[in-house]
Amino acid sequence: MPSDPGGDMPFRVVAEAFSSMERITSRTQLTLLLSRLLKDAPPGVIGKVVYIIQGKLGPDWKGLPELGVGEKLLAKAIALAYKSTESSVDKLYKNIGDLGSVAERLAREYRARGSKGVTLEAFMDRGREELTVTRVYTTLYRIALAQGEGSRDLKLRLLAGLLADAEPIEAKYIVRFVEGRLRVGIGDATILDALAVAYGGGVHARPVIERAYNLRADLGFIAEIVASRGVDALRGVKPEVGVPIRPMLAERGRDPGEILKKVGGRAIVEYKYDGERAQIHKKGGEITIFSRRLENITRMYPDVVEMAREGLRAENAIVEGEIVAIDPNTLELQPFQVLMHRKRKHDIHRVMREVPVAVFLFDALYVDGEDLTQAPLPVRKDRLASIVQESDSWRMAEYVETDSAEEVWNFFLKAVEDGAEGVMIKAIHRESVYTAGVRGWLWVKLKRDYKSEMIDTVDLVVVGAFYGRGKRGGKLSSLLMAAYDPERDVFPTVCKVATGFTDEELDRMNEMLKPLIIPRKHPRVSSKLEPDVWVEPRIVAEILGAELTLSPLHTCCLDSVRPGVGISIRFPRFIRWRDDKRPEDATTPQELLEMYRRQLRRLEEEAEAGL
Ligand code: ATP
Repeated sequence: MPSDPGGDMPFRVVAEAFSSMERITSRTQLTLLLSRLLKDAPPGVIGKVVYIIQGKLGPDWKGLPELGVGEKLLAKAIALAYKSTESSVDKLYKNIGDLGSVAERLAREYRARGSKGVTLEAFMDRGREELTVTRVYTTLYRIALAQGEGSRDLKLRLLAGLLADAEPIEAKYIVRFVEGRLRVGIGDATILDALAVAYGGGVHARPVIERAYNLRADLGFIAEIVASRGVDALRGVKPEVGVPIRPMLAERGRDPGEILKKVGGRAIVEYKYDGERAQIHKKGGEITIFSRRLENITRMYPDVVEMAREGLRAENAIVEGEIVAIDPNTLELQPFQVLMHRKRKHDIHRVMREVPVAVFLFDALYVDGEDLTQAPLPVRKDRLASIVQESDSWRMAEYVETDSAEEVWNFFLKAVEDGAEGVMIKAIHRESVYTAGVRGWLWVKLKRDYKSEMIDTVDLVVVGAFYGRGKRGGKLSSLLMAAYDPERDVFPTVCKVATGFTDEELDRMNEMLKPLIIPRKHPRVSSKLEPDVWVEPRIVAEILGAELTLSPLHTCCLDSVRPGVGISIRFPRFIRWRDDKRPEDATTPQELLEMYRRQLRRLEEEAEAGL
């Protein structure tokens, strides 16, 4: 087939696969097609193919520079590559509405004219070469690395050179990649499935691949191991200091007695601090901090870097804690919003004094060569305590160990009084390992409600928006929100949210949405409604609702309760943006279904009690 097992792969194969994927809506077929592409990719380039599919040059946490090619420069490169003019590119763009298709068309016409290359620059004089994945990836990488004086010109030449050698179909996807609009409908979950099919004989091999990915959040790296040494080689993957581990997540509960039963009777009950989760990596004197969505946030917290350097008595370690804003005078805990306010400010050194933070450490995942992710929680806690040198603002999270529901309640009330969001109830039995990237019943959160009648808040992804009327006319003022379904790797809609926004927030939201507007529904969105504009699923918001209802308009949990109906939220209200969450971290249909069932049970109980 198309690839040379030891070497490279024609980029055309990738571009053609993208083209087919665009026409497919069935997830099974998409996975199959992708698995064929990945199977054909030689081990040396499969990592690059995976990054390209993700629309990236590497995992986000590496903090690679952006490509830095705006629409104007891109149009210029297309014009240069195909001996056209910027104004013709612009005109075509206005007609077609997609720069990728413009490049495809101009490349085709250029070929038809039988030109041999562009004369303007020396590098364009040579004959055309077939593009390989490596050449495309490396050139894009060089474009990203080009910074500073003269970089605009260098970016232009590199890109035009690449496009000049591209087949029309290749040009289309190169341009879309550069624009950040690849949108072939593939998320990480589908890539994991496709790797399992390609190299593990079927989706049953996915758990092994996923576990390794959860411990080393780099899909390109994981793909390379699978392709070169097989799925079994992944069993040996261990955490590595400097590479983020996907965070373990908690289920939600309401009743302490029930929760205790779920986690195995006796448990650790710990303050649930209302701040930003931080995974802190220490390698000698070097400290790196990763956020909940695995972004490198080290630069934002020079104070935490200092605390970690002083307060971790280990050469190499990975620990987790919550960074919380504290009142500089009283050292009392401040709400999440105060910390977010600090994060938006640019003069970090000044704001550091105005809004100091404290770190409350709750887990240790790796200490000096020892992988603790497979150890039960009490062992991890002991290791953590043994390496943490506490100070006022660098402390172990507050916790008690108990099997009494009453004690849980009392501790919960104390936590809330101290400014925490509630408590985390954590299993301590032999199997209480650190389940990276998994939301399960080993950790259960019990949160104070925002309002007493509240079901709970959910985190949903913006997938579309509607224009307002009257005072809000002309502005996008209501949002179409979706959950994330990890099984199908799609975003099914849940509700429309129009309340909870201040005028100021509304303006900010309009600015935020503008670059994310897309001409058509995103392929990973499942919706029966047609909003005024479709939006790339990127932004997550926390939504509060009065209750869950059945709805024929929404696709979340479609057919789960009754045929043809989904689950929606009544009177949803915007609470805050969750910049710390990826779209794939949104609430799942499974969770909503459980919440719906709990709500039904509560209503039945209330009815029985004659309330
Ligand atoms: P939420 O939306 O409730 O903040 P989440 O979806 O971000 O939760 P969950 O796993 O549901 O993530 O809740 C755990 C979160 O609570 C963690 O991500 C972490 O940021 C925070 N947290 C605060 N205190 C603790 C603690 N003691 N142990 C674990 N997580 C804690």
